[in-house]
Amino acid sequence: MNDGRRIYLDHAATSPLKSEVLDVMMPYLTENFGNPSAEFYKEGRDAKIAVETAREHVAQAIGASVKEIYFTASGTESDNWAICGFARLNKHKGNHIITCSIEHHAVLHPCQQLEKEGFSVTYLKPDKFGRVSPNDIAAAINEQTILISIMFANNEIGTIQPIAEIGAIARARNIAFHTDAVQAIDTIPIDVDKLGVDTLSLSAHKFGGPKGVGALYIRSGTNAGSIMFGGAQERGRRAGTENVAGIVGLGAAIEIAAENAATKADKLKILRDKLIDRVLAEIPEVILNGHPTERLAGNTNFCFRYIEGEGLLLMLDMKGIAASSGSACTSGSLDPSHVLLGIGLEHEIAHGSLRLSLGEETTPQDIDYTVEVLKETVERLRLMSPLYNKGEI
Ligand SMILES: *Cc1c(COP(=O)(O)O)cnc(C)c1O
Repeated sequence: MNDGRRIYLDHAATSPLKSEVLDVMMPYLTENFGNPSAEFYKEGRDAKIAVETAREHVAQAIGASVKEIYFTASGTESDNWAICGFARLNKHKGNHIITCSIEHHAVLHPCQQLEKEGFSVTYLKPDKFGRVSPNDIAAAINEQTILISIMFANNEIGTIQPIAEIGAIARARNIAFHTDAVQAIDTIPIDVDKLGVDTLSLSAHKFGGPKGVGALYIRSGTNAGSIMFGGAQERGRRAGTENVAGIVGLGAAIEIAAENAATKADKLKILRDKLIDRVLAEIPEVILNGHPTERLAGNTNFCFRYIEGEGLLLMLDMKGIAASSGSACTSGSLDPSHVLLGIGLEHEIAHGSLRLSLGEETTPQDIDYTVEVLKETVERLRLMSPLYNKGEI
């Protein structure tokens, strides 16, 4: 037993706010309440300085300059901006966009919206590990192509994409390249120039910062337009009074995340591989989804045959373990994940999925306890499964 302790294994959905991040945010939720646009008095100027300091932290973390960083209200908004804002403004140059079928909905749904507005979108199919082929991207380019959007790492199966190779192709053809790096920043060092990306999205709550604040990197010279209209905040490109405390939190969190990315990755990989090895060895009829090596340090994703992921999640919760069947955005619906279907899994198998995403506070004991609970729970659920009992194995 784990004495009523909770084991949180859903860091891909959100991560706990770091206490040192909360500490630096706190004054901006209390006494330092000024509006950064009010530059004629100290309260406003102090808030402005705090926002600009956070901008420096973001720029430094990804090898950009401060004037290339824009704050938003979420990773979702950053993706919408990079896709809809850019495409609408550049429609006169062409109406074709290339993306991949297993992107986050924050990319797929803006693309679907653009199709209604007269754009044509190619949704490339990845291989069975979830990797997009740079050759497929090159082959999909036509004279109308203005934008390529490929995520850095998948939020469900953890597969890391060959971003630098895709960036080189985009640059050679003079096509803008967006990457959703929301899942990557805290375990993979990122340099926007080495990657050759033109826009890149981030979300604070995925790396120890607060919810409701994101950032978009826009390479200078790239005109990504706007999707929010109103005041002149963010150098006239993103209207709306800044979430000062949130931005300060994002800045503090990214400074810590970028500095510790490599050591955190080393630590998580050991735990991840222990979890994967034990599950594959000790539970029958299970498959690992995603790439065997090109995967996020904290990500595991399995399909257990003959059981429903939802049933498994409820039983894990009762045993103190917080897990996910895939994407937080689709849980609550009964459709299997578009990512698992996108890598070619059958509906029936995709239904038995479980994502366990590890984080800084995860311990080897958490992994051992989780494996024991999983062994017992999967067996119990299978004994109740009509498919399993028909002896179809
Ligand atoms: C979480 C996530 C988003 C959305 O970010 P929010 O800040 O929660 O809107 C976008 N893309 C990926 C890959 C994500 O994991």
